[in-house]
Formats: sequence, C-alpha cells, structure tokens
Amino acid sequence: MNLDSQPGHIDQIKQTNAGVVYRLIDQFGPISRIELSRRAQLAPASITKIVREMLDAHLVQETEFQEPGSRGRPAIGLILDTDAWHYLAIRLHRGAMTFTLRDLSSRELVEDSLPLPDESAQPLLTALIDQVDAFFIRHQQQLERLTAIAVTLPGLINAASGVVHRLPGYQVRDMPLGDALAARTGVPVFVQHDISAWTLAESLFGASRGAEDVIQIVIDETVGAGVISGGQLLHKRGRALVEIGHTQIDPYGQQCYCGNHGCLETVASIGSLLALAAQRLRPSLTACCTISR
Ligand SMILES: [Zn+2]
Repeated sequence: MNLDSQPGHIDQIKQTNAGVVYRLIDQFGPISRIELSRRAQLAPASITKIVREMLDAHLVQETEFQEPGSRGRPAIGLILDTDAWHYLAIRLHRGAMTFTLRDLSSRELVEDSLPLPDESAQPLLTALIDQVDAFFIRHQQQLERLTAIAVTLPGLINAASGVVHRLPGYQVRDMPLGDALAARTGVPVFVQHDISAWTLAESLFGASRGAEDVIQIVIDETVGAGVISGGQLLHKRGRALVEIGHTQIDPYGQQCYCGNHGCLETVASIGSLLALAAQRLRPSLTACCTISR
C-alpha cells in the first residue's frame, strides 16, 4: 500500500494514535514515555513525537513521579494539562439559558444565567449568537484556548446536522444552530437533546456508570426518555429521539408545540399538571369562598 498517495489516511492514523496516547495519559498519568509506548503498542520514537506535539499544544505536561517499585530518582511522567483548554457549555430551556465555561477537567470557571427572550425583538438565532459574543467579551480574561461549544436543549433536534427543528415555547422552525455558531466562532459545535445528553452523562459519570443498557425517563417541563443500548446512545446522531413525550394519548387534547394534539407531554409535564390542578381546584375554591362569606 502506498501511504504517500493517501495523505488523508495518514492524518487519520496520526489523529487516532494521538487520541490513544491522550486517553492513556488521562487514565494512567503520571505515566512515563516507555510505559506509554508499551500500553499504546507504538514505537518509542512515535511516542516521543506525539508527546512533543501535545506538550507544544499545552494538552499534556511533564511531572516528576516515583515509579511503582522504584526507589531511585523520580522519573519524568506525563499528565494532562487541563487548565489551558476550555469549552463552553450552553443550556437552553424555556425562558432561560445558562452559559458555563469549563476547562478540560470540567472544572467550572465562570457561569452566567441569562433570560432567553422570545422572538419579538429579534430572531432567536441572532439573539443567541449575540449572547455568545457578549459572553466571550465579558470573560475574555478567563478564556484560554477554546476547543468546542456544546449546546443542550429540549425540543426536536437533529444532533448530526445541528439543526433545531422545534423548541418548546418558541417559534423555531429548522434553526441551523450548529452551523451558525461554528461559522461565527470557528470551533466545532455539538448540539444534543438535553435528555440524551443527560442520559449519556449519567452513564459516563453518574448513576448508571458502566451499565450497558439504560432507560432514563424524565418528567419535567417536558416529557422524554433517553436510551442507551449495548453501551451506545440510541439515535445519538439522528432526529429520531425516543419521543415518548410526543406519543398521542388524547386525540381531542390540547395542541402541542410539535403540531399534534394530546401528546403525553401536554398531559404529564409539570406545567400541564399544574394547569390541570388549578383548573380542578378552581370550582372547589370558589365554593369554599362563597360559603365563608
Ligand atoms: Zn407533541
């Protein structure tokens, strides 16, 4: 095979090897270059080159450490350098949005909670991009190298294309959020349904850590479910979320923001339950007050 004629292929191998080395340093750091070479099954010369590039990029750093079983001089090991790279996590929900700048260890550096205005003054996409610009200007002193932006939100979303088809409480129709934010900021943007992202986070760091098959049902402002099957998030790149919230249970029910009538969400979400309780209590409250007069 002539690898020289396949530069894209070589880049991919380099990237894959760098990814393997980075994950090993994350998992076993502080770790020596020799140990890295053994675990990654890469030649020491390749490890030296990959590590040098990572040191230059401030992705890893050197530290002295005592190798297990050794009483000699401390060895030089590698650990992640998580301070020098940041990502912005944006959470959108009805009426509000949260912007959190974190470093690569997920340590919170700064968080702003802001209102998410309706579309009366300007289109939602324009308002969001303006707010991202304003956030970076406000916190430029804290911002190091930005790796990516992650956006989680309820609604109907295509995670692969970054398009938000519907957002509860807003007049959104097929908003190209991922592409627009990436074009504005120059970094990769990941858009995901908030329940899918939450389910994935629980399996990576939380209550369902290590479980291969998980169903998480959320009853909140919205109603939805996240499913992990065989360790993989179901529909992780598509629009087809496990939409239990938009299963029709009453054909004559209220209209839902998805366009249908009587979805489970129009009956079982917190807002619907409170509205129903208020409606049912009203006659008895009126009766009670009439008697007391
Ligand atoms: Zn619906």
